[in-house]
Amino acid sequence: MRVRPLTCTETRRGDQRVVHSLGDGTVHVSATSPGGLEGAAAPPELPPSPRQVTAARHDATFGFSAVFDAGASQEAVFEGSGMRQLVELAIDGFSCTVFAFGQTGSGKTYTLMGPLTQSEAQPAAPGVLGLMQRSFACLLEQSRSRGSDLVLSASYLEIYNEQVTARPAAPPGTAGTPHLHCPPRRVPQVRDLLSPGPPHALPLRWSKTRGFYVENQLSMDFESLEAITDLLLQALIPPTPAGSQRRRTSAHALNSHSSRSHALLTVHVRSRAVSTHPAPGTWGGRGGAAGPSKEGSLCFVDLAGSERVKETGSSGELSTEANSINRSLLALGHCISLLAKPRGKRTHIPYRDSKLTRLLARSLGGSGVTLMVACISPSSRCLSETLSTLHYASRARKVTTKP
Ligand code: ADP
Ligand code: MG
Repeated sequence: MRVRPLTCTETRRGDQRVVHSLGDGTVHVSATSPGGLEGAAAPPELPPSPRQVTAARHDATFGFSAVFDAGASQEAVFEGSGMRQLVELAIDGFSCTVFAFGQTGSGKTYTLMGPLTQSEAQPAAPGVLGLMQRSFACLLEQSRSRGSDLVLSASYLEIYNEQVTARPAAPPGTAGTPHLHCPPRRVPQVRDLLSPGPPHALPLRWSKTRGFYVENQLSMDFESLEAITDLLLQALIPPTPAGSQRRRTSAHALNSHSSRSHALLTVHVRSRAVSTHPAPGTWGGRGGAAGPSKEGSLCFVDLAGSERVKETGSSGELSTEANSINRSLLALGHCISLLAKPRGKRTHIPYRDSKLTRLLARSLGGSGVTLMVACISPSSRCLSETLSTLHYASRARKVTTKP
């Protein structure tokens, strides 16, 4: 659980801090604003978690594996969240996933990537680099120190607008007539952020051996921190003032860089031990003796924020986006709820309900290792979303998978 500092706007507005870390892996929420809990009660089907003590409607304590308060550095989050161990597991051949979730503007992208003000010309200061860059550095460092040869490649996807929204333009001569008879057109949903040019949809398929996968997804090899950082920046930040960024973001009241899509960056890690006395002409072209090869992956999922339309001031296309974001988060929450049940009592898990849950099926319930980072704002204005993130995270904590 990560609690971000109050932003300048929140401080200027005089927002109260209603979230406090108690220092023992618990977060205490105490509401001082009457009526601030509107719509924030836990869903009725949820049993209270064992460590959650609700003293009053406005006062609750939640326990997590680790809690990072407003003063926690990016390095402290990397070291204290288990991220380093996850990188090592990926090198050992496991499928590892990190989710960042929480309200828009709660610090998900900051936690994963650092501040979005960075560019190729103005890279971020090392201290504020996020979990992604630290993991890449760790992967490359491990590759050198373990004496193993790692082949690293990355793919980067986004899921945008889970639902059928756009309608085709009216045929010529029918301007102004209602489109009631036009079949709805699907907007692009899964997009490749590494592919240059205008975004286009990629098909999501299923096979017995691979599970759900995205067809024709680009994958790029990288051997240095600069190379992978450049890939990320090219996908997210316009290279020139006239350039266009590929990941969908729209400015609204809570966050001027709000991400309107779920973004999934996957690093594929292929490793093979290399002998110190290499035989010429063997694997990798570097003369290493053959050892057992392993294929792991490390997937970073930056979920679009959950949000109530009225709070973000969204309207028109923005509110359509907000609804579809909420719909896929709901599908994710539903799968998590079912997975949280004891193994014997689990029923069918509806991964097929959304593209997001299909793509995450392996990491949610399969043979993967998953780290969930929930991000919250300490502001009194965000109380209801903060409480729903805390409940969501309490449920996610109960999910166990079999690595
Ligand atoms: P989200 O991705 O959840 O929508 P962002 O990561 O974009 O939110 O964060 C919203 C704003 O808050 C950004 O301006 C970001 O730089 C700032 N911010 C978030 N977390 C922190 C933090 N731990 N320390 C300092 N600033 C932060
Ligand atoms: Mg974001």
